Formats: sequence, structure tokens, C-alpha cells
Amino acid sequence: MIAKELVVIGGGPAGLCAAIAAAESGSRVLILDRSARLGGQLIKQTHKFFGSENQYAKTRGFDIAKILLSRVDTFADLIEIWVEATVVALYPDKVLTVVQDGKYIKIQAKAIVVAAGASEKFLAFENNDLPGVYGAGAVQTLMNVYGVRPADRVLMVGSGNIGLIVSYQLMQAGVKVAAIVEAAPRIGGYKVHASKIARLGVPILTSTTVLRAVGETCVKQAVTVKLDPAWKPIPGTESVHDVDAICVAVGLTPLTSLLAMAGAMTSYIPELGGYAPILTDEHESTLADVFVAGDAAGVEEASSAMVEGRLAGLCAAKRLGYPHADFDDIVSECHAQLAGLRNGPFGCKTCAGIAKMREVRDHAR
Ligand SMILES: Cc1cc2nc3c(=O)[nH]c(=O)nc-3n(C[C@H](O)[C@H](O)[C@H](O)COP(=O)(O)OP(=O)(O)OC[C@H]3O[C@@H](n4cnc5c(N)ncnc54)[C@H](O)[C@@H]3O)c2cc1C
Repeated sequence: MIAKELVVIGGGPAGLCAAIAAAESGSRVLILDRSARLGGQLIKQTHKFFGSENQYAKTRGFDIAKILLSRVDTFADLIEIWVEATVVALYPDKVLTVVQDGKYIKIQAKAIVVAAGASEKFLAFENNDLPGVYGAGAVQTLMNVYGVRPADRVLMVGSGNIGLIVSYQLMQAGVKVAAIVEAAPRIGGYKVHASKIARLGVPILTSTTVLRAVGETCVKQAVTVKLDPAWKPIPGTESVHDVDAICVAVGLTPLTSLLAMAGAMTSYIPELGGYAPILTDEHESTLADVFVAGDAAGVEEASSAMVEGRLAGLCAAKRLGYPHADFDDIVSECHAQLAGLRNGPFGCKTCAGIAKMREVRDHAR
């Protein structure tokens, strides 16, 4: 068994900021990531980010990853990094099982920050297991990490920011987007992204969903259908689209499986993306010394993931006996930044989710 001070699970924006904050405070940190490269979702994002200047708004996602990684590098004496290291188990006594190079490694941590991000939600429809039915994250990984064009003609399902941005990136890669279908009566993502797509001639069909994929061994067509106000398919409104891929972008759900395995309390909070951990205002879970940040705490954005990571990293380091010299000021600044980031039209949903999470927490006390 290897003993470590602070272990951060996940090297996306939340995990990197947690590690930087903890190292700034003087703690030793081990970052574990299952991918070959650190940066999480950021390394797939070629567009300029929204958010606030403090969290690198107007900078492309992969450039934000480079900035964070260069800050991690300045703490080379304190921050250790293991890549292609998947945490497959977490126990209540803060023991982790990690698989790396086919070997199982046990680590005893004094404190942990879980920053594992989110997983994609999927949709039930006929033939959704045919090759050519992708999640939007898989499409982005293929195109923007491995340089592989996933298809020639795609039907996008979901008009949230991810559906809109991935549609644009598909077009940049020379892929025709036949249409974007959206079950809700209105477009889910930012108007600026939707307008850009509409200007490029892609129809965004609201109150419409995918009914089935057609094909024997791979997708050859997609059938869509209009929905009534109760979201029931309207017979006779089916349309057939000649596509070789269907890309599903219907939201994300926090990756809480490790927390649940260790016995941390979670609750179903749709506004946060599904089952979300119950946390203190310092982002500590119901397991002492196990903190959670970023999409794993509730699906939001990279900007809030970075602030939550900083908060969790500072609080974990303090618990380990390394209080940052400006701890109180930085913690107040983090809370103010989170309030500012959640102050927009999309932030209401997160605020409602956090209010529900606090209700569950207070009730459980
Ligand atoms: C298409 C798209 C566009 C976006 N645009 C914006 C935008 O404009 N502005 C914005 O602010 N946000 C944007 N986001 C959201 C943003 O990317 C995420 O909110 C953010 O990356 C969440 O950060 P995170 O660190 O919590 O998780 P992630 O970035 O998902 O990182 C989690 C990391 O944990 C690792 N991991 C997971 N499980 C394990 C395990 N068991 N063991 C080891 N490692 C593990 C993963 O490999 C990953 O590296 C966008 C997202 C997408 C998909």
C-alpha cells in the first residue's frame, strides 16, 4: 500500500485547480487521471470559452488546459502526476484502488478530492446500439483528440450548448449536419451558438426527437418524429434523414460511482444532472476529508469547475494542516465568483439544484 497526502481523482479543470491550490498551500498532491493527457474536457474544446475573465473567458478550451498545466508544472516538487491511471474503487477509509499498466495499486490517502467529471446521458430509441450512434463526447474525442472524422452526414440529437458546439465542430471537419432535433419546444443552448449554426443552413427542429436508427450493420438513416406538448410522438409526422451517424447530446450526469461505493451520500437532483453528492459549503462530502469539485459535484461549466476545484483544494490542504496564508480571503473570493458565474439565465437551474442539495443535507443532519 502506497501512502499519499492528498489524492486528486481527475485532471480536468476542477482537479488541476484543486491540485494547484493545495500545492500553493504547501500540501503534497497526487493527480490520477485515466486518460493519457491531463486537461479533461478542455483538451477537446476548440472554441473560445464563455464565463468570466478570472476563468480565462474568450480563450480556447485547449489553451486553458495549457495554462493550467503550466501552473501545475511550477509545483513539480509537490505535485505528482499519474496518467492512464484509472481509479476503480474508493473505500470509506480513503483507500483507493488504481489500475495502471494492467497492475492494481492500492493507495492510502489522507484526503481526497474527487474531480472525475461527468458521463453522457443516453436516449432509448430503436436500434440505438447500431455502430454509428455516438455520444457527443465520443465524437469530439475522435475529431479533436485523435483527428478522426466520425461520419459524412450526421443527425444531431439535442440543441443544448454541447449539441450546438459539436455540430459546428463537425462542420469544421467537413461533415454535413443534416439537422439538429430538439424534443423541447425551444433551443436549449446559447443563442449565439444557435444563430451561427442556423446561418450555416442547418435546420434546428424543435418539438422533434429521433424515433429510430435504420440499418443492418451500421446507421444508414435516421427517422425523426414531431412531439405534441406532452412530448408524445404525433403519428404521421415522421421524417427520414439519410445519415451515417446519429450524435446524441442530451446532457451529462455527475460521475458519482466512486463516491457511492465509499458510502458518501448522494441524492437525485435533476437540476445538477442526476445523482449528485451531498456537500458542505466547503465541498466536503458526507465522508470526512473527501471533497468533490467540478461536474462530479453537479454538471455546470469549466469556469465554475475551476473555482470549485480551487475551493476544494484549499479546504483539503487546510484539513491536512496546510492552511493557505490568505485562506479566508480566497475562500470568500471563490464563493463570490461562484455566485457571479451562477447569476445568468443558465445559472438559475444550478442555484435551484444547490438549494435542493442543501435541503437534503440539512434534513439528514
Ligand atoms: C462540447 C462542450 C462545450 C463546452 N463549452 C464550455 C464553455 O464554453 N465554457 C465552459 O465554462 N464550459 C464548457 N464546457 C463544460 C466543461 O468542459 C466542463 O464543465 C468541465 O470540463 C468540467 O470539469 P471537470 O474537471 O469537473 O471534469 P472533466 O473536464 O470531465 O475532467 C474529469 C477528468 O477526470 C478523469 N476521470 C474520470 N473518472 C476517472 C477515474 N475513475 N479515474 C481517473 N480519472 C478519472 C477524466 O479522464 C477527466 O480527465 C463544455 C463541455 C462540452 C462537452
